[in-house]
Amino acid sequence: MADKGKEVNVQLNNRTTQYLTGLYNASGYIQSVERLNRFKKLQNYTAFFFNIKGFGNINKKYGSKEGDEIIKRYAMKLKAFVQKDEYLGHLGEDDFVALILKARRDMFLYFLSRVGVTASGKDRQKEQVFLSASVGMWDIDEEVEDAREVINRPSVALIHARYILHQSSALASTDMINKDNEKKTIIENFRTALENEEFLVFYQPKVDSRKRCLVGAEGLVRWKHDGEMVSPGAFIPPLEQSGEILYLDYYVLQKACLDIRKWIDEGIEPVRISVNFSRKDLADRELPDNINHIIQEFGVDKDLIEIEVTETVDDVEHGILADFINRLHELGIMTAIDDFGSGYSSLSTLREFEVHTLKIDRSFINTDDFSWKDEIILMNIITMAKQLGIEVLTEGVEREDQLSFVNNAGCDVIQGFYFDRPLPEEDFRKRLKNKKYRRRYAR
Ligand code: C2E
Ligand code: MG
Ligand code: MG
Repeated sequence: MADKGKEVNVQLNNRTTQYLTGLYNASGYIQSVERLNRFKKLQNYTAFFFNIKGFGNINKKYGSKEGDEIIKRYAMKLKAFVQKDEYLGHLGEDDFVALILKARRDMFLYFLSRVGVTASGKDRQKEQVFLSASVGMWDIDEEVEDAREVINRPSVALIHARYILHQSSALASTDMINKDNEKKTIIENFRTALENEEFLVFYQPKVDSRKRCLVGAEGLVRWKHDGEMVSPGAFIPPLEQSGEILYLDYYVLQKACLDIRKWIDEGIEPVRISVNFSRKDLADRELPDNINHIIQEFGVDKDLIEIEVTETVDDVEHGILADFINRLHELGIMTAIDDFGSGYSSLSTLREFEVHTLKIDRSFINTDDFSWKDEIILMNIITMAKQLGIEVLTEGVEREDQLSFVNNAGCDVIQGFYFDRPLPEEDFRKRLKNKKYRRRYAR
């Protein structure tokens, strides 16, 4: 359960107890749930899914053999707490489930916040360790059709508690469960949607605001699903969690290369197109070479492609990002740091990475009253970047006052609704044919 978004795969088999603790395993637990359900008693219970915080460190400190003993003693303490008409299960590792009578829910939650067990230290010396759990709960308040929901729903609440609320516990809500189901549906439908070419690439112009002309565009993915256009905010996070975003990002790059090829073949002069790659994609060490391969496969000039990535605070990821950008640089492929200034960015980026463009995040200008401090900060970032030979672009410019603020700070290249929204290919090619911006298009 340690991983974000890890699915709870309930394996059913003939044995009903967990070998280590003797508590019900998934099969045994589900059978109990089904029995209660037949007698319509499930609604008396709160379903728990919990997991010991930092158990990896305990295993490291005491060794895995003693770690197993600690789990056994922990299970004994749990057994001592539950009543005859309550149920406990051990799914493996440090993942536990329980059905506790609603009236005792808070008592059990309090109990789980600190369970003391003995552990044998180095010189066989006994010491007391206090285990605290991350807990997901579901107050069963409806008919249960699939018994596995009694494990699934509190596990969704647990993931929510840990990664979204950053709390020790959370109670499953209808909204949480619906969102989780939507997420699962997206992941399930993704491969077929990709094969059916339901994903489209829109192009948002990048405009030189002084020369008033088109200088580039960003390729932004859209999902045309059941006749509706789904925005990336809805499907990218689940695909990042499942790791499938990589296939989508390759697809978008291929589509952009294909369009560039088409424009050139039709005698339309293209502009540089940038394509987003998720930070999650960087785990694949082959990524720079694969990107290079795709661009070459379509016979597209490397000057016409730029790869956008966002920054990170994490030291390990920082190193991976540096390797990625520098490797692309070696291959002659340009990169842009996306959303710069949105919280994670640091000035060392400008020094360490062979980056071609800095895209200033729209949060920088997304304020009604720009203070002189904002202007000085922005101006200095822009000056520094330019002096280092890095191009600068500002995203999200919607209004005249934002445009003059950004221009005053020294940035001319703009991507924002002020000039244009992301456009379908057939509209974007009109901009390519006539690159002059005599007027603004977007409203
Ligand atoms: P991003 O890469 O920072 O892209 C810019 C987003 O800002 C786009 O949203 C664009 O429509 C929006 N935007 C541009 N100008 C304005 C403006 O003036 N006002 C406002 N309010 N918004 C503006 P979109 O297309 O919804 O994409 C959102 C995010 O989804 C992107 O942010 C990017 O992080 C991600 N994304 C989009 N396409 C892809 C893709 O193919 N792969 C990956 N990995 N991520 C993608
Ligand atoms: Mg981007
Ligand atoms: Mg951005």
